[in-house]
Amino acid sequence: MAYENELAIAQKAVIAAAKLCQTVRQSMVMEAMEKSDKSPVTVADYGSQAIICKALSESFPNDPVVGEEDAAELRSPEMSDRLAQVTQFVAGVIGQVTPDQVTQWIDHGNGAPANRFWTLDPIDGTKGFLRGDQYAIALALIENGDLKVGLLGCPALDLGYGSTGLLFTAVRGAGAYMQPIDGSGEATRIQVVQAGDAARLRFVESMEASHGNREQQDAVAKAVGITQASVRMDSQAKYGAVAAGNAALYLRLPSPKYPDYREKIWDHAAGAIVVEEAGGQVTDMYGKPLDFYTAAKMNDNRGVVVSNGTIHDAVMAALKSI
Ligand code: AMP
Ligand code: MG
Repeated sequence: MAYENELAIAQKAVIAAAKLCQTVRQSMVMEAMEKSDKSPVTVADYGSQAIICKALSESFPNDPVVGEEDAAELRSPEMSDRLAQVTQFVAGVIGQVTPDQVTQWIDHGNGAPANRFWTLDPIDGTKGFLRGDQYAIALALIENGDLKVGLLGCPALDLGYGSTGLLFTAVRGAGAYMQPIDGSGEATRIQVVQAGDAARLRFVESMEASHGNREQQDAVAKAVGITQASVRMDSQAKYGAVAAGNAALYLRLPSPKYPDYREKIWDHAAGAIVVEEAGGQVTDMYGKPLDFYTAAKMNDNRGVVVSNGTIHDAVMAALKSI
């Protein structure tokens, strides 16, 4: 299979990063809730990015990584305690490391889009991570203007298949797969929901109302015949739900509160290839393909529509009419 080595290296790294995130959440979340600061997020974000960038920089030194975080703040003297925490959590997963190594790995994620590059969201769904809900570790490889490999680690996701914590993987042309993230079971090929499966004709949207337009999303879902209330979920776990056939549609329409917001590539790249390889379709709200290769921000796309494919045209028609 093409990209076999890329997939293997990335998979190991995402699983290691997921372990770090779970450890941070177990050991720090209560403290953070009391202080109501965001320390577990930053510690887990930085740690996850360090682990994944280390693996990518060692195996694919010429590939830039466009990651969400950088270590500029973490290097400042006031942050030395935080850096020590991050270093300790990283060491807990991959063995002895120094603070300098950690900041260097994090800054490996400061790359720019190129003919071949990776994009990484070390923790997507920050708010879900803090709330004890869904979050994802999202990594994708883009080459020659197309998504080639995508991985979505969802440590807290349970889609009703008997295990909590799922890893989604996809390689262009080779299908999409789902497996328990703790390695306790085999990878199985996944497929989007088929036309006519009314029971699973659900739609998913963000938990955060300000990341979408719930009123319009509701209207569009109704217009295409979805009668059940939405399932609200943080992070790209929503792409996992569509890819596995647990929902037929994920709508993310621009929030009226933030009309100038542009979606970031790391918030969608991994999820998009997983859904496409499961047989679904991903476009912006005007039916345009998402541009994952020009810049970190998708400046020429507005909104995101993710579907099982069969209802995509109807969704576009509904969007035009509202
Ligand atoms: P979700 O968990 O699906 O709500 O998405 C989380 C992501 O939403 C974060 O990683 C942010 O990058 C992104 N985000 C932040 N503000 C907005 C906004 N106004 N509209 C859409 N997405 C946003
Ligand atoms: Mg994100």
